Amino acid sequence: MQRLYKGIQKFQKGHFAKGKKFFAKLAKRQSPDVLFFSCLDSRVNPNLLTQTELGELLIVRNVGNIIPPYTNSSNKICTAAAIEFALLDLEVKHIIVCGHSDCGSLKALYYDEKEFADMPNLKEWLNIISQVKGRVARQNSVLTHEARKKATEKEHIVAQLENLLTYPLVEKAIKEKRVNLQGWYYEIGTGDVYAYNWSKKLFEKINCSHNNEDELTEPWLAEPCMDM
Ligand SMILES: [Zn+2]
Repeated sequence: MQRLYKGIQKFQKGHFAKGKKFFAKLAKRQSPDVLFFSCLDSRVNPNLLTQTELGELLIVRNVGNIIPPYTNSSNKICTAAAIEFALLDLEVKHIIVCGHSDCGSLKALYYDEKEFADMPNLKEWLNIISQVKGRVARQNSVLTHEARKKATEKEHIVAQLENLLTYPLVEKAIKEKRVNLQGWYYEIGTGDVYAYNWSKKLFEKINCSHNNEDELTEPWLAEPCMDM
């Protein structure tokens, strides 16, 4: 804990002291452009990854960046509330679902009953995405352990994007082209980030040639989403 207390002191004397004007502005309002769904994994830091400032990303984090389908009334509340706040109150322009490599939640998806013995809540939560295993198995008949892990992580992101589209507010905003929807896969060991290409149905590495906003939005989001 001492490490955290010292961190607060360091923040106040350093970062905060140097940016007093910025924090005074932040204290009055926020106007993020992006609603960012992320796993709770300690190695994933959306602001660090995207080099954005405080106030730019509205971040929803949970175990395995799961978006319960809108029809799942008991589990959708947090996600649905965040979507209402983001789209109606803050009018964000982008929604990103960011998964990552070596995701512990997705490893747990393959646990057997014994391994879940003391974790009934984790079991129930992961049950929301149990169909991802079937999707991976149907697409790949034989996979090494490592390949199955990666395939599960990526297929999971696509499934969560599909779940997001079950939220009436999201569906409407996309149809009206007020919001873009992207699925990202973050490779922790390389720092690479891949974005889901809706037309090609695969993940493509985000690189310098994709620095044009139109390139990013048109093929990946608005058009393909409209067809779904
Ligand atoms: Zn994770």
